[in-house]
Amino acid sequence: MPVPTITTLLPHHGGDPYCLAPSGLCLQHPALAACPWLVHGFSLRNRVSRDHPLAGASSFEQSREDVKSVPIQNAFVTSLAGNAMVLVRLRQCHSDGVVCLDRLAPGDLPAEGDAVITGRSGVLLTIQVADCLPVLIVDKSKRILAAVHAGWRGLLAGVVPKTLEAMQSRYASDPRHCLAVIGPSIGPCCYQVGQDVAMPFEEAFPGRPQLWRNFQPAGRDLSSGTGPSDARRMLDLSAACRCQLETAGLPAGRVFSHPPCTSCHRNVFYSYRAEGESTGRMLAAIGKIH
Ligand SMILES: [Zn+2]
Repeated sequence: MPVPTITTLLPHHGGDPYCLAPSGLCLQHPALAACPWLVHGFSLRNRVSRDHPLAGASSFEQSREDVKSVPIQNAFVTSLAGNAMVLVRLRQCHSDGVVCLDRLAPGDLPAEGDAVITGRSGVLLTIQVADCLPVLIVDKSKRILAAVHAGWRGLLAGVVPKTLEAMQSRYASDPRHCLAVIGPSIGPCCYQVGQDVAMPFEEAFPGRPQLWRNFQPAGRDLSSGTGPSDARRMLDLSAACRCQLETAGLPAGRVFSHPPCTSCHRNVFYSYRAEGESTGRMLAAIGKIH
């Protein structure tokens, strides 16, 4: 059975033009796929029904409910790098901690933090997500890589700009030569927030209307007298991340911030918000071949 196309998987996605990897195990972004010296990918969920197009791919043949993300994560890593690269995981904690891999001793891993950077070849940086933003950053000039886990707490803590600061201070990276891809994550279509999250974002991102959408429940007629107070506040985490990346110096055209929504496409991705703590996790990965 042929590998399904991206149009088959995400028929309603109108954002960044992701491609399905030849393995069928992950999505890839053209801006990163254009760099022949690196490998990258955003893995997909493992629980697919037997009539789903991916059920024809060998790694997806199991569809028991208790098969979660680990087998597919392993298959994904192998498809990207074979056994040739050392896998790097973090103990993620929704922090602003940036780990510089090249300063660690082997015994220091897995290190605690939510971003990891390296200039070394042969290591595969990974971030685990289910709704939070996986952000892959590349300095194409100096060939420095970063993988960042950024949910609402991480964005407010500044893990993204702190990653760029670390790339600058430790590798003399120039943000103008970097590009950033925000991978599959929960979109403003599905990310309703309360005042506890909305207020700190309004304070941290003043005058940024692009972060917000007012969303009416299905079937509600806006002209029926329903006031704005009834509108739910929907937060665009990717837009907030884009603001931080551009403020840090990345050119707007090198920031790719329109990924598919994990909650809208639960046949393809895991969604923590929609499915709860027990759902699986996906990996975002990036590494230098040479
Ligand atoms: Zn959505």
